[in-house]
Amino acid sequence: MRFIFSLEELAGFFDKNGIDAYRAKQVFHCIYKKGLLDFNQFRQLPKAVISLLNKNCRILAGEIVTSRICEADKTEKFLIKLKDSYLIESALLSSDDARLTACISTQVGCAVSCVFCASGMAGFKRNLTKEEIISQFLLMRHHAQKSDKDITNVVFMGIGEPLLNFENLISAIDLLTSPYAANIGSRRITVSTSGIIPGIKKLADYKKQINLSVSLHSAFDDKRNTLVPVNKKYNIKALMDAVKDYISKTRRHVTFEYVLISGLNDSSEDADALSGILKGISCKVNLIPYNRIEGADFKTSASRDVKKFADRLLKNKINAVRRRRKGFDINSGCGQLKAVWK
Ligand code: SF4
Repeated sequence: MRFIFSLEELAGFFDKNGIDAYRAKQVFHCIYKKGLLDFNQFRQLPKAVISLLNKNCRILAGEIVTSRICEADKTEKFLIKLKDSYLIESALLSSDDARLTACISTQVGCAVSCVFCASGMAGFKRNLTKEEIISQFLLMRHHAQKSDKDITNVVFMGIGEPLLNFENLISAIDLLTSPYAANIGSRRITVSTSGIIPGIKKLADYKKQINLSVSLHSAFDDKRNTLVPVNKKYNIKALMDAVKDYISKTRRHVTFEYVLISGLNDSSEDADALSGILKGISCKVNLIPYNRIEGADFKTSASRDVKKFADRLLKNKINAVRRRRKGFDINSGCGQLKAVWK
């Protein structure tokens, strides 16, 4: 069975089977514009083409096995089963400004092992294929379209470190941005990284204006070594140099994610150190209260401490935004739905 991923490949397959190549564009139109995931519903195609597709091709590389919705903010989280039975998570995040953002995973498990992350605790299994990455988008889009909604933005912030699965990530982004497929603007796509410098450099050289989000969590190397162990390999100074280079090449702002953990990285000293390393960088800081996970002994910062931290950054002229924990009542932190679903 061939997965429908490349327009050229499908056109070539049709050509070999005596079918006009323009039918490939119609197939892509049905999948990506109409959101259809069943060949039998491709009514504009002749029966012979539908039969050929049914016998030889498939659209999806996984299926939704369960989902949960957070009533407070309407975040919807999906558990997706892959062909080899591994489970991954994806989410749809609603915003007040009518944006609907698909949060997509790029690996089964994660080797980065951030100490506050359920996916990191579960360990790394394998990279997702480009088809498995795109399938998450297609499944969630199909789901959203049932309620007359459509995905407007995509963030690669689910399970896994996207920049450690670079080739498949880029293939998926190429398809998401293709006018024949999802046609989502590059500026509506965000790649989140724990700070994989070679990946940031490659993304800077990719000819698209993708938003970059960096999970920072501390401005001190010793603390960050503990929270995000990959910092031992790519320290903060080298990371900031790579970020500056990214901004100068892409002309995009960078977002820094900062999970606030009580007594660990939420003091005035932490805020001042953060302000120091971000000085002069065109960026925004998202302050996120820690999402409790089983097996990790951290406490969420109190609201007043989060406010104090944010105020300190703003006083230091750093653009900081306090974020709500999206979907926290449905275990919407990375890897948490899988952890509780048995
Ligand atoms: S936070 Fe992201 S990079 Fe860190 S362990 Fe979890 S999935 Fe991996």
